Amino acid sequence: MIFNKLSFGSTIGIIGGGQLGKMMAQSAQKMGYKVIVLDPSEDCPCRYVAHQFIHANYDDEQALNQLGEQSDVITYEFENISAEQLQRLTKKYHIPQGYQAIQLLQDRLTEKQTLLQAGTQIVPFIEVKDSKDIEEVKTKLGFPFIVKTRFGGYDGKGQILVNGEDQLNDVYELIAKQECVAEKYLSISKEVSLTVSIGNHQQITYFPLQENEHRNQILFKTIVPARTDKELAARHEVDKIIKAIHFVGTFTVEFFIDSEDNLYVNEIAPRPHNSGHYSIEACDYSQFDTHILAVTGQSLPHKVDILKPAVMMNLLGKDLDLLEHEFGDHPEWHVHIYGKSERKANRKMGHMTILTDDVNETEQLMYDKFKGRD
Ligand code: ADP
Ligand code: MG
Repeated sequence: MIFNKLSFGSTIGIIGGGQLGKMMAQSAQKMGYKVIVLDPSEDCPCRYVAHQFIHANYDDEQALNQLGEQSDVITYEFENISAEQLQRLTKKYHIPQGYQAIQLLQDRLTEKQTLLQAGTQIVPFIEVKDSKDIEEVKTKLGFPFIVKTRFGGYDGKGQILVNGEDQLNDVYELIAKQECVAEKYLSISKEVSLTVSIGNHQQITYFPLQENEHRNQILFKTIVPARTDKELAARHEVDKIIKAIHFVGTFTVEFFIDSEDNLYVNEIAPRPHNSGHYSIEACDYSQFDTHILAVTGQSLPHKVDILKPAVMMNLLGKDLDLLEHEFGDHPEWHVHIYGKSERKANRKMGHMTILTDDVNETEQLMYDKFKGRD
């Protein structure tokens, strides 16, 4: 569906008020839009930068209707919202992102099936429902393998890395409670991601390829441009995905490069992504700017230029002491603090982006700063 661009002063409703919702709202407001956010948490980060807040669960039908009535367009920052509710809402309200991407991608199994059908290269996997399936995993994939819950996982939550028989009890416990998939555990040489925005007129804008380092399965840092020659190959995989799934707005595809230099699609986030945060300072458009342009029906830039190479560091609860101690001496650290009230060791509390002429040197400086951080 093509629709006319939203005029200034119109209202964007955002389902989900975490840091992604907050940064979307900030881009929206810069462009003259009002924002209403719906979130179950009373002190969610987006609440304090939005014009209006609806305090409700993501599947609260009445509250979602209220959001629809008060908004000219609805977007979401979070893929684990109810696909059924979203489908229902698309019949009454304007939701350019649609519900198909959510429906396919919030379940790791249908996500993988969709990626296979689209013709992308993915890590071999097996659906796991019971202990018989684990026997198949052992023979077909072999140790080590990784078991992931089909629904609700993020930042490595709901995943077990299985190196040998002695860890299988944990797996049996997990699969008794939740449906899972198992995939081969790769020897990874690099992780990269590609953020893309799709306009309402099927215009495609690619961000530069991002190189990601995870620690404990949580993004630790992103370097852009990625130090690999896989950018075109990654774009090629993304193009296949775009043909298979309806998208409008910003989304990110995560990839693995293994020790034999093979590129695998890992997963898709149908929304702005942590590894795209550097674009706020390092590019001429941020991933939130292009997302808002897309969902409000405006043209997207033909290309996004990187103005300067960048290193983006995530700031977890356990990093904030370091930050508070040193922040004042480092104006070159572009610090974003999301405003979450509860600080937890592994919770994402903010991030910082450093623009640099020498990413290798800046990377080393950051390793020294974060020394001892797991
Ligand atoms: P999440 O939804 O939690 O981001 P991912 O599937 O992206 O889930 O896994 C998180 C991280 O765990 C990845 O970025 C990677 O570092 C590691 N990981 C996941 N699957 C594999 C795998 N099959 N082989 C090696 N490492 C993996
Ligand atoms: Mg991931």
